[in-house]
Amino acid sequence: MTRAPSPRATRSPSASPKLQAYKAKRDPAKTPEPMGGSTAKEGALPSFVIQEHHARALHWDFRLEHDGVLVSWALPKGLPMDPSTNHLAVHVEDHPLEYGTFEGDIPKGEYGAGSVSIWDQGTYDTEKWRSGEIIVVLHGQRAQGRYVLFQTDDSKWMIHRMDPAPKNFEAMPDTIKPMLAEAGALPASERGWAYEFKWDGVRAMVYVDGGRVRALTRNELSLTTTFPELRDIGLHLGSRSAILDGEIVALDKDGRPNFGTLSKRLHVTSKTVIEQLTRSTPASFFAFDLLYLEGRSLLRLPYDERRRLLESLTLNGETFATPPSITNTAGSKVLRIAQERGLEGVVIKRRNAPYSPGQRNGDWIKVKNFRTQEVVIGGWTEGNGEREGSLGALLLGVQADDGLVYVGKVGTGFSAATRKELLALLAPLARKTSPFATPLTRAETTLAHFVRPQIVGEVRFAEWTHDNHLRQPSWRGLRTDKSAKEVVREP
Ligand code: MN
Repeated sequence: MTRAPSPRATRSPSASPKLQAYKAKRDPAKTPEPMGGSTAKEGALPSFVIQEHHARALHWDFRLEHDGVLVSWALPKGLPMDPSTNHLAVHVEDHPLEYGTFEGDIPKGEYGAGSVSIWDQGTYDTEKWRSGEIIVVLHGQRAQGRYVLFQTDDSKWMIHRMDPAPKNFEAMPDTIKPMLAEAGALPASERGWAYEFKWDGVRAMVYVDGGRVRALTRNELSLTTTFPELRDIGLHLGSRSAILDGEIVALDKDGRPNFGTLSKRLHVTSKTVIEQLTRSTPASFFAFDLLYLEGRSLLRLPYDERRRLLESLTLNGETFATPPSITNTAGSKVLRIAQERGLEGVVIKRRNAPYSPGQRNGDWIKVKNFRTQEVVIGGWTEGNGEREGSLGALLLGVQADDGLVYVGKVGTGFSAATRKELLALLAPLARKTSPFATPLTRAETTLAHFVRPQIVGEVRFAEWTHDNHLRQPSWRGLRTDKSAKEVVREP
């Protein structure tokens, strides 16, 4: 199909053959982007621009004025600030000089559809300009210093910072272990403490770099593909690199987190099923702490300061939010609100305390409205009557010094679908002997189908009995974010 040439394109005084590829991709009647015509100012240093482009995939367009055009690359992760990491730079067609001031929306259906805004602009010095290797010194607001662009393969180039990282720049850590809360009681006075509601979901550390998101559980299992919703956070933060601590939750129709609903999404690996579940059972990320922001570690800052920076990110979207931090209110009142709303409890945080990765040092205290316990499934028994042959109850254990200790069985809290799913998970783990280090009753032993103790779940329960069994346990869901070795009796 051929398009009639547009009047603006043919009239353009810039007949530069360098812009042919640019013009071939765009119809000036349909896109607000400039079509060329300007020439460079004599004598001045050449200009550069970096445009943040929210297209199908977020990227940053890096353009250097050279020989009457903007020589251009698309940087999927933006300009590197850290000299130890190279970023990919995809060489794209030369753009007209006027593109350097372009900001706006490219309509749906057109090439590069999405929104364009200027991330930084300035001038640059050229140290080297050869085919396949360019060294420049950028003089911008955000982009400053010596960079090399080198070609690795066709349109594939890399961009590397040759100067040391900007002053006080700290590289983003690969992982930070989450800080943990001690089980305890409300402090005597609310002075010096902040209260947050305890969200019943899966703890997650979310790493955002160059608009890309990576999420890890407490024991560093990846949640990135399990919860595609998390990508929205990257689009929101754009070029701001950040590490967020928070909880992935599935909200019921009253806005209450439901762990059972969320846990259904945890063990899914099929892309198609994940997509279906993202629509039927959407999850949200509740960010409650900020540990790194744009080249700076925030771990040493007090809670109040980290919280202020977190709130400055305005994380409130369809799939992410910043839940409240409550100060100057009696803890008993906050706990009562949590009870009335059916929330799991409250977490109380010392306002002047730094973030202590992986530690449970009393600077964070949790007070729960109901007790929960993680458990390892060591076997199962069949149901009676209608449930004969299918799952009736699960035999549960927790790790202790002498191995997996039996703590009782749970037979309630499952839907028919959950019973089926659990049985399918347990069948391949069948073994003849009991995995428990402690003896079961003769009746339990006779009826049990034992399994290799690998699957972790969570129950809600009333209390521990004197012989270390769970009283009135009810099934809450699987915990694929925990390994069977870590499951111990909670204090
Ligand atoms: Mn672009």
